[in-house]
Amino acid sequence: MRLFFALWPPRESARALADWASGLGGRAIPAEKIHLTLAFLGEAEPQKAIAAARRVEASAHRLPIEMAKYWKHNRIVWAGPRETPPDLKTMVDALHFELFRAEYILERRPFAAHVTLVRNARPPRQLPPLPEVDWPVREFCLVRSSVDSNGSTYGIVERFALN
Ligand code: ATP
Ligand code: MG
Repeated sequence: MRLFFALWPPRESARALADWASGLGGRAIPAEKIHLTLAFLGEAEPQKAIAAARRVEASAHRLPIEMAKYWKHNRIVWAGPRETPPDLKTMVDALHFELFRAEYILERRPFAAHVTLVRNARPPRQLPPLPEVDWPVREFCLVRSSVDSNGSTYGIVERFALN
């Protein structure tokens, strides 16, 4: 199965981000699919990934959603923190290290905390101000992505609590 680790926003925060994104043109990500990817495993078995993630010790924190940006190389609009919060950086480094030890092959690109909100986006003239979004990070998730005729569907395989 196709697997990735992610942070999931509270329902009302996802709703606010989806509403913001829906006016921009392009393919807005529906609220229930909005997430922040921590590590992409691709086709993989979940057992070793679950064991690896259980070894990650990290602190609960908040994810500030402070800025929105259009990236022309992949034509997405994303929102996220101005800089990766130190607790998130520590958590992601630990997760990547444990996944590497479990022999998963990850991207070599450095982690950039961003939440994709629009795909196939047109270059916007100016992005409207973001809504207030509260995103407490108390856990991270292993998620399965299945692709069918309606696109991809996500399902949470396992949750990992933070301290
Ligand atoms: P679709 O591919 O149908 O548009 P999707 O991109 O949301 O849907 P997946 O391709 O399964 O679904 O991706 C799940 C998550 O992993 C997304 O956040 C996606 O951006 C990210 N992702 C997908 N492929 C890679 C990759 N090769 N490297 C890093 N992250 C990836
Ligand atoms: Mg994809």
